[in-house]
Amino acid sequence: MKAIVVGAGIGGLAATLSLRRSGHEVTLVEQTPRFTEIGAGIQLAPNATRVLRRFGLLDEVAARAYRPSEVCFRTWSDGTDVCRYRLGREVEDEFGAPYLLLHRADLREALAAGVPSASVRLDTTVVGIDQDDTAAHVTTASGERLSADLVVAADGIRSAARQWLFGADKALFSRTAAYRALLPADRVADLDLPELAVWMGPSRHFVHYWVRRGELLNMVAVYTADEAQQTQESWTARAEPGEQLSEFAGWDPRVLRVLERAGQVFRYGIYTRAPLERWNVGRVTLLGDSAHAMVPFLAQGAAQAIMDAAVLGDVLTDATPAEVPGALDRYVRRRLATATSVQAGAARAGDEFHLPDGPEARTRNARMAAHAARNRF
Ligand code: FAD
Repeated sequence: MKAIVVGAGIGGLAATLSLRRSGHEVTLVEQTPRFTEIGAGIQLAPNATRVLRRFGLLDEVAARAYRPSEVCFRTWSDGTDVCRYRLGREVEDEFGAPYLLLHRADLREALAAGVPSASVRLDTTVVGIDQDDTAAHVTTASGERLSADLVVAADGIRSAARQWLFGADKALFSRTAAYRALLPADRVADLDLPELAVWMGPSRHFVHYWVRRGELLNMVAVYTADEAQQTQESWTARAEPGEQLSEFAGWDPRVLRVLERAGQVFRYGIYTRAPLERWNVGRVTLLGDSAHAMVPFLAQGAAQAIMDAAVLGDVLTDATPAEVPGALDRYVRRRLATATSVQAGAARAGDEFHLPDGPEARTRNARMAAHAARNRF
């Protein structure tokens, strides 16, 4: 069959790889003139790396990654360890795939390398999707009309396809924003930082981890912001010099040193999408952030998109054009409940991380410590 995938983010690339593995011919349509990825990190849990193994890409991705042996959760003011979870061999034994920390460009490049350039239409913006009984159609900004047996809209959190399929709804401001930066490892060598850490504090949390085999440190400093300060959802909006330091005043000196030495810091307004009751209509479906954008506090948005892609490939294996709508129903049945619960879990994680000092935070810490003690990882 022929498929069109709209959007060459992590979700669209994974969907393209998965559909090609299932024997289908795919055209991947992307509005930007080239594959680009911003300078930022990404954690990939085993639910995603297991899929990469199936795609035959795990070795290549792992070779560019950092493999953490553990994650530690700490208190904001003095870095007391609340708990540690093993992420190395124990996780790999249990789930059959590793936990990886990556530079986004490295992940995007590895995924893109699996897609033949002849299947990709860059610099092509989709301005409409429609369908009839036998095919789905995509209209581009230049007026071209492409047809296929199915269309997968992986067009991200600002998805226009979502609006065309289900009517107007918009991205919702999560009342959180993040300062983010990548630092050369030698700039923070004296700080004795853990491999992957989440520092939890009132209305804020601070995450850092190594990427690119430990050459770079990725930092994400999340803070709460009211509607009046609503910041744009942009990977390239620059923060004012030093702005991040006043937001995190009073935090552990190691956190402040990282924030201080970060160089150019970017400010990212964090948005979500309300859960949908369905993602598909006939021969067209959403996938990734267009379907289930979530706050990044469980580091699962891209992982869920990669899982969507894996299931999409499964349900369409051996399918005929007439069977596409039924297969897409099965895809959504297998993915929607999980993705929706991860969306809710990610929001809850933010609430927990951001508890004020006091009894609730102490209860959280005790619960996390007990949970970590019960688990091997
Ligand atoms: P996108 O990456 O947004 O891709 C959409 C693509 O569609 C873009 O290339 C866009 O140009 C293209 N497009 C849009 N409209 C059109 C159109 N009309 N025509 C043609 N092309 C179009 N997830 C994790 O799993 N682990 C993490 O550690 C993690 N950390 C995160 C940290 C932060 C600060 C944030 C904000 C998110 C994080 N996420 C993480 C979530 C993850 O980044 C997203 O869930 C994931 O990138 C979504 O991929 P996508 O392909 O669905 O969308």
